[in-house]
Parts: sequence; structure tokens; C-alpha cells
Amino acid sequence: MEVTEIRIFPKQGQDKKLQAYATVTFDNKFVVRNIKVIQGSNGLFIAMPSRKSKAACPNCNFKNEVGSKFCNQCGKSVPLLKTDHTPDPKADHRDVAHPITQEFRDYLQTKILDAYQQEKVKGPSAYAHDDIGD
Ligand SMILES: [Zn+2]
Repeated sequence: MEVTEIRIFPKQGQDKKLQAYATVTFDNKFVVRNIKVIQGSNGLFIAMPSRKSKAACPNCNFKNEVGSKFCNQCGKSVPLLKTDHTPDPKADHRDVAHPITQEFRDYLQTKILDAYQQEKVKGPSAYAHDDIGD
């Protein structure tokens, strides 16, 4: 499996650690959007797209984000809300798609960070029309 295209969408928002989003195409056949380029204390790294885990309210069955203190539908306190699959309450973000091997992760990260550095060199005008939205 190879990366065949990378599009970089630089971000200058309130989140100073988040540098950009990347959309990556594999083998001209499969696209993964919203891979994050993050400025860490030891340099840039990538974070795979993730979503917050959800769990049903014991009272009304509404799906709330894990870690919520109150149900967003019925307003009842749900202090013990967690999913069956995540005994660790801190593990409330799950990757939507991610490499399985360290080798492929390293390859992907190198590719994305290279593309990000190239995009940065081009300057702000180069990505004035980029749009991350659907
Ligand atoms: Zn509820």
C-alpha cells in the first residue's frame, strides 16, 4: 500500500498545536481525511482522525459522549457513563482509521510531514482557496 496523494490544509486557529489537516489517498483508491499535523514538544507528528466514544444514558438511552456528566437529552446526572469497550475513561477518543504496523505509521508520517513542509514553503497564497468542508 502506498500513499499516492497528499493534500495539506494549514490551520491558523486558536489551537496552536494543530498545524494542519491532511487528506491522504492510498493506491489511488482510498482516501482518509482529517489526519492532523500537530506541533508537539519534540517536533511535528501526525494524529489519525478520531471521534469521541459515545455511551447510552441509562435513563433515556440517548447517546452521550463518554465523560459527560449529564445526559444531553434528559438532563439526568450520568457520572458513570462509559462504554463497554473502554474500561479506561481516559480512552475516550477512538481512531476512525489508523495504520496497524509501526513501519507503515512511520512511512505515512514521513510522507505527510514532508508534504506539510512543502506546503509551508509555498506560503499563504497557495492555499487561500482550500476548503476542508464537505
Ligand atoms: Zn438521558
